[in-house]
Amino acid sequence: MGTAPPVWNNLLSRGKMSFRYLFGPISSRRLGISLGVDLIPYKYCPLDCVYCEVQSTKNHTIERQHFYPPQEIIGELDKVLSNHPQIDYITFSGAGEPTLFLGIKEIIDFLKTRYPTYKIALITNSVLFTDPRVRVDVKDSDVVLPSLDAVSQDVFEKINRPLAGLKAQDLVSGLCNFREEYRGQIWLEVFIVPGANDHEEEILKIGKAIQNIKPDRVQINSLDRPGTEAWVKAASIASLDKIKELLSVNSSSLVEIIAKDKLESYSAKMDEDLIDKIRSILSRRPCTLEDLDLILKIHVNELSKLLRQLIIDKQVSAQRTGSGVFYSWKS
Ligand code: SF4
Repeated sequence: MGTAPPVWNNLLSRGKMSFRYLFGPISSRRLGISLGVDLIPYKYCPLDCVYCEVQSTKNHTIERQHFYPPQEIIGELDKVLSNHPQIDYITFSGAGEPTLFLGIKEIIDFLKTRYPTYKIALITNSVLFTDPRVRVDVKDSDVVLPSLDAVSQDVFEKINRPLAGLKAQDLVSGLCNFREEYRGQIWLEVFIVPGANDHEEEILKIGKAIQNIKPDRVQINSLDRPGTEAWVKAASIASLDKIKELLSVNSSSLVEIIAKDKLESYSAKMDEDLIDKIRSILSRRPCTLEDLDLILKIHVNELSKLLRQLIIDKQVSAQRTGSGVFYSWKS
């Protein structure tokens, strides 16, 4: 894990929107300091998870597309990476599913050829791993962070609200096939939604699937800021500890909890100027994520991570109303 280099603020020219596809740096426990790359228009996703931090899915799809010219994304990456920033990962994530972008292989090939010292991470819901071409396209990533929240179809539908026809068992098979073909690290996230997938029967099924998938790590997560649906709550630490115990039985993977109460604070690594701007806006009036995005012109994923950390640090509170989730600065 690295620390944020002082040159960061100059790299992405915050507030001027000089970069369309890049965002960050994002600081997280899992990936240290990462440069985010968003390959997908807002909320194109095969799932519509009840805990999603960036609103309901607008385009429910599994159709892969050339959303943007790969050369435009490569141009932005070249502009930033030619300055040799100190980052731990270049991370494909965003407000949608990155593997839907048909040009993802071209971007990965460019990075591996031109900037081989930088590690590549891919955050994915793993739905498209049933397609062998997708597995080939992302095989040169250094670490893949897929999700698996349910194995039973009814639980999958309750939590992940998939596009009609998608099957939880196919997702598990896709992950097993990926594990067989892929030589990098797999850190599998299991997001716990109390009342949906936290009962022993489902956890044991997930544990069985994990034994077949054989990820390097299993990372148990839970809600730490409001999701898409109001009924979704955070799991208690006692419940997460129990789930960790159940998932560890007969597992060759390292099982860890990454939910907020188990996280160390990362605020020291956050951009002080940006926090000041957020403080000045939120102490005047409560805002939604979308309001902040419009005012600050910062990618929703970056804002989302910052708000998450500020909530953990008890500097910001979140309140759900009929018109959305509003964030306020705590005096
Ligand atoms: S959490 Fe990820 S997979 Fe689920 S709806 Fe949001 S973007 Fe899609």
